[in-house]
Amino acid sequence: MSMFEGIPVDVGVIYEGERIRRQDMHVELGGPDQKTKFELVRVKGLDVVEDGKITVVGPDIKDMKEGSSHPFGIYVEVAGKGVEEELEGVIERRIHEYCNFIEGFMHLNQRYDIWLRLHKKSFGKGLNSFNLIAKVLQRLFKSELSFIEKIQITFFTDPKRVKEMYDEALKVYEARDAKARGMKDEEVETFYGCTLCQSFAPTHVCVITPQRYSNCGSISWFDGRASARVDPKGPVFEVQKGELIDSEKGEFSGVNEAAKKKTLGAVNRVWLYTGFGYPHTSCGCFEAVAFYIPEVEGFGIVHRGFKEVTVNGLPFSTLADSTAGGRQVDGFHGISIEYMRSPKFLQADGGWNRVVWMPATVKERVKDFMPKEIADKIATENEAKTVDELKAFLKAQEHPVVQTWKEIPVEVAPEMEEAAVPTIPLPTTAIAAGGFKIILKNAKIHAERLIIRREKEKR
Ligand code: SF4
Repeated sequence: MSMFEGIPVDVGVIYEGERIRRQDMHVELGGPDQKTKFELVRVKGLDVVEDGKITVVGPDIKDMKEGSSHPFGIYVEVAGKGVEEELEGVIERRIHEYCNFIEGFMHLNQRYDIWLRLHKKSFGKGLNSFNLIAKVLQRLFKSELSFIEKIQITFFTDPKRVKEMYDEALKVYEARDAKARGMKDEEVETFYGCTLCQSFAPTHVCVITPQRYSNCGSISWFDGRASARVDPKGPVFEVQKGELIDSEKGEFSGVNEAAKKKTLGAVNRVWLYTGFGYPHTSCGCFEAVAFYIPEVEGFGIVHRGFKEVTVNGLPFSTLADSTAGGRQVDGFHGISIEYMRSPKFLQADGGWNRVVWMPATVKERVKDFMPKEIADKIATENEAKTVDELKAFLKAQEHPVVQTWKEIPVEVAPEMEEAAVPTIPLPTTAIAAGGFKIILKNAKIHAERLIIRREKEKR
């Protein structure tokens, strides 16, 4: 008998990475149109969890209008002799993976950011109830994580109950995140790695340290440790730090070796505490993006939930595309909100002194972790909507990055002074960049303004 007997659609790894467009969806659960959404796993006693129990609180899929969007919550309670509370975060992260195994069912993101869609075709095949989805999840959880002896699942779609449980879930996430605060990377010999997102980004590996939370913001160093203990062959594994190569940038020989091995040589070096050079890879599940704004020589931050365009005119989705895919992109860095609370946050780039802009909601969430003297100097969408406005704000507030803007006066030849618009004649000039040489013969470069800056020390 098949493991998925009675399920009207196919279930398997091949469906991971499947995207469902709006016009193809039967319903949408959570996502950007819904304020309240969550997924939460709690470990309970063996006498509390009723194995196989499924509850739907609110309308079931078959009662939802085609094309509609709903607040949504998935609440999973598990029990087993070896199951500790520390495993909750890791079990919870598997909801993403297992939902995506279901043909025509898409799951994105995590925790309070989940976004699911059911394809019209799968609905047409009979996938019309959360009971069926819960059955798949229960079977996958018990077969893949053998330490789970009992599992019960509740789906919430009733808006009032989703909100109540959402508030509850936020408290649980906060308690989990707070646990690792105060610990230092220097105090441990072992970090943890995670390759769960390689199905979407094959060259991505998360390196989880006490002071660098996973990009998705759902797996802490403690979660990594608990997971690697009970499931050592699973996607979360130990990384021995090895030799410290650079304490400022956060380079360790053991991390480099692990990245090389897990990405099959695609990534050979990782600098944990910087957005430049060899930054930590970014998959696609990151909670936020740190993006460099060259005009002001500082970092902007934008989180997934920000619906406006950022200060450089680009929305989160475009910045996320420039960052994602398991790449190391100079100046584009996928991060979790919790990492922003870490003293190692962008340490090699100047930390908070290099951050110039972020949405007001993110600022509110992390303000207690910013140095007091910088908080008012960082703009939000309320103070700056364009780079010009940002420049003026940073100058007025005397943000530390302003110190780096000093311009060196250029000596201009008398004949050029006369010209209304400066034009630089270039009889023959060679520009070398990225292995190419471009030769300009008898070219004239027209510029409204010429700024020459002293080259900074190599980052
Ligand atoms: S973002 Fe990182 S830690 Fe989170 S699931 Fe993906 S690989 Fe694992």
